Amino acid sequence: MKDVRKHHPDTQCVHASLIHDETGCVVTPIYQTSTFSFRNVDHGAALFSGKVKGYIYTRMGNPTVESVETAVAVLEKGYAGIGCASGMAASHLTISSLVGAGDHMICSRAVYGPTAGLARNVMSRFGVKTTFVDTSDIANIAGAITPETKLIFIETPGNPTMAVTDIEATARLAHDNGIKLAVDNTFMSPILQRPLEWGADVVVHSMTKFLNGHADVVAGIVVVNNEEDYQHFRRMSNYLGGTIDPFNSFLVARGIKTLAIRIERHCSNAMKLAQYLEQHPQVERVMYPGLKSHPQYDRHRKQARGPGGLISFELKGGIEAGKILMNSVELLVLAVSLGGVESLIQHPASMTHSSMERADRLQAGITDGLVRISVGIEDADELIADLEQGLAKIK
Ligand SMILES: *Cc1c(COP(=O)(O)O)cnc(C)c1O
Repeated sequence: MKDVRKHHPDTQCVHASLIHDETGCVVTPIYQTSTFSFRNVDHGAALFSGKVKGYIYTRMGNPTVESVETAVAVLEKGYAGIGCASGMAASHLTISSLVGAGDHMICSRAVYGPTAGLARNVMSRFGVKTTFVDTSDIANIAGAITPETKLIFIETPGNPTMAVTDIEATARLAHDNGIKLAVDNTFMSPILQRPLEWGADVVVHSMTKFLNGHADVVAGIVVVNNEEDYQHFRRMSNYLGGTIDPFNSFLVARGIKTLAIRIERHCSNAMKLAQYLEQHPQVERVMYPGLKSHPQYDRHRKQARGPGGLISFELKGGIEAGKILMNSVELLVLAVSLGGVESLIQHPASMTHSSMERADRLQAGITDGLVRISVGIEDADELIADLEQGLAKIK
């Protein structure tokens, strides 16, 4: 078997998910089975005690699931991965594995909405307190630490402002205080950013996004960096039960083979769109870590290999302008989610967050004219032409 860990990430994308079996398969097959037979009583006992490695029951482990877990762990330079039913299942597994009643956690204010909801509406019911701060300023994190703080959970770049948090400095601060650092790396993928290399303890992904990349799977993963955490998280995953299934694992493993080349195109396309939008008279400002105007441009360049495929921008015309643009685009698809090969556009104030009070919306960084594009891998000039005709309809 190849030692995939020593290879370049482009090579790892192609080869890291293959689990060899006696058939000589070139792709890990879908082991669509809920359970695995024991050869005899002793074999069953040895599997359960952990003396022999093997498969028992698919919630606890399955070769196809393992193939995607290995691929992402290798790409993240982590110790091992635990596949989850969704990105939210991965965040839930992470948080409930690291905090309990009486504990406190600190979370980025610019975070995926349901992640904040998990802290506010679920973890709070189990006695876990959460403080949300703008983690792009390390002083805010330091100021929020209490003796009960057990976890810092960050997203960088964050939702929807694209604020960038310094992973290395946050990891140092966390460890000086006996705190674990978890990073939601969904926006970057391991091709662009590997938080464990900067000292983070846990990486969380929604594999629904770039890792799968084809908008046809909901899945997640947690990557940890040592055996002790792995055993703990694996046990917790077995109890929580939000595990990924073999078929979705197969699809994500297939998606990962083209991850590196997809990310290259996502970045170059997004850069072109961001530059185009930045000079457009209807646009107030563009939030994209690839632009020099981004407040943490240098920090992002230090910790990531590229700016990624997500752009947020502010329309001068507010809500009405946003609605006109949404109803005018023809090539860009009006939908939430991100990281797929097709470009998606979204105007939170008139769509996903329209039922929210305006003051609460603004507090969450969702301004009236905020538009988000997940830039796909289509021809960049055609995407720009589509935006051009849409923006021209705004008076
Ligand atoms: C989509 C997303 C999630 C949640 O993932 P699901 O697979 O939809 O559960 C978490 N974090 C970020 C940054 C996301 O974009």
